[in-house]
Amino acid sequence: MAYDPRPVEPVIYKRWLDAGVFQPRPDGEPYVIVIPPPNVTDVLHVGHALNNVIQDVLIRFERMRGRAAEWLPGTDHAGIATQNVVEKRLAAEGKTRFDLGRDAFVARTWEYVRKTGSTIIEQLKIIGCSCDWSRQRFTFDPEYAAAVREVFVRLWDEGLIYRGHRVIHWCPHCLTALSDEEAEHHETQGNLYYIRYLLLDGSGSVTVATTRPETMFGDIGLVFNPKDSRYKSLKGKRVKIPLSGVEIPIAVDDAVDQAFGTGMLKITPAHDANDFEIANRVWPKEAKPLIMTEDARMEKSPRVPADLPGLDRFDARKKIVKQLEKEGLLVKVEQHQHAVRRCYRCDTVVEPRLSDQWFVKMQPLAEPVLAEYRRWRTSAIGTSRGSCGGDTGCRYSPAPTAISGPTARIRSSAPRAARACSRIPTCSTHGFRPGCGRSLRSGGRTTRRTCAAFIRATRWSPRRRSCSSGSPAC
Ligand SMILES: [Zn+2]
Repeated sequence: MAYDPRPVEPVIYKRWLDAGVFQPRPDGEPYVIVIPPPNVTDVLHVGHALNNVIQDVLIRFERMRGRAAEWLPGTDHAGIATQNVVEKRLAAEGKTRFDLGRDAFVARTWEYVRKTGSTIIEQLKIIGCSCDWSRQRFTFDPEYAAAVREVFVRLWDEGLIYRGHRVIHWCPHCLTALSDEEAEHHETQGNLYYIRYLLLDGSGSVTVATTRPETMFGDIGLVFNPKDSRYKSLKGKRVKIPLSGVEIPIAVDDAVDQAFGTGMLKITPAHDANDFEIANRVWPKEAKPLIMTEDARMEKSPRVPADLPGLDRFDARKKIVKQLEKEGLLVKVEQHQHAVRRCYRCDTVVEPRLSDQWFVKMQPLAEPVLAEYRRWRTSAIGTSRGSCGGDTGCRYSPAPTAISGPTARIRSSAPRAARACSRIPTCSTHGFRPGCGRSLRSGGRTTRRTCAAFIRATRWSPRRRSCSSGSPAC
């Protein structure tokens, strides 16, 4: 007969809850896991079950080792992602959020969130997760929001958060900026349009290839590679943007790929991240005009021909191509396989867009983490020979924390990976084991040992008595 967990597991789980064993004990070294809060966009799937079981194993293990173990549970409101799910449900009823109006739409979203949020928590309980439910959080809880604000202000005060004017991935449907991860690459069969820009001095024209002809009204110049002999005589000349007649200069930049298209690149700094970089090098003081609205319609602007404003970018593209053909400015159209970014939520083609966004300066935040990682890695490499080098021939694994001294005992309950050899002291100053050739302080004792693996790992020179990895104390 197959095992039926339904009459058995809830009884055991209730016993655990009633005994309060999921709350951290008052003493012991703290061990905390904050759950990556599941989005309330939907209920949990088997991937959540997997990662939560791993967290549960870790937290139960540390709890049994006597640590004050806290597994902090919660759910994430997931902002626009949740809005999208609710909008899709509305669409199935033939409605949009505008039909409902703001208040009714917000109420409808809350109704959905409460349902999925409580289902998620019940699912975690059913698979036996030993979370401390007395501290459960939702990202909209006032205390949580206050903590976020506090961190934001602190980072701002420390100069780690700033506002920057940059080209970002913009979703014209969700009307929001997307991170690199959220703007997914899709291989797409598109077209490469070869467009003729007439030289102002009447000496002819220069041809430029582009996949997005509608962006040409935002061009501030053309550039070619300084090594490209085909265009040498054009440097400093001026051309007219087709259909709009706006005059722009021709210049050079090393970043231009001579082999792509015609080797002459149009620079649209407000709608292309690479062009933004080039423009900052070549014409740092020049304005960077936006020629599309946030919902990717052609902007009403002196740069945009009068019959285009209000048109969707793809409709505008068709119209522009027809017009170019009519005026003899379209040289040819080639099929072109290229990667187009799409919004991961709504699948809309992302429009690169210059805008003011918040950024976090990552380097000063990442450095201490990297330093700790390198220290751990050095220790792991230095001990990975599988033998402590002592006379017992014992095998050991690196421990992430320093052991208390040469006589420290291995806990018999610890798994292999967490064991540290009792014969290998860890330098209490630098955390290296088993030694770095200089006085190695451990547990109050000073030893003097050199580990060959350590020397290899850090390129430490016994002759120079210094470490090329830059560990000053070694
Ligand atoms: Zn979107």
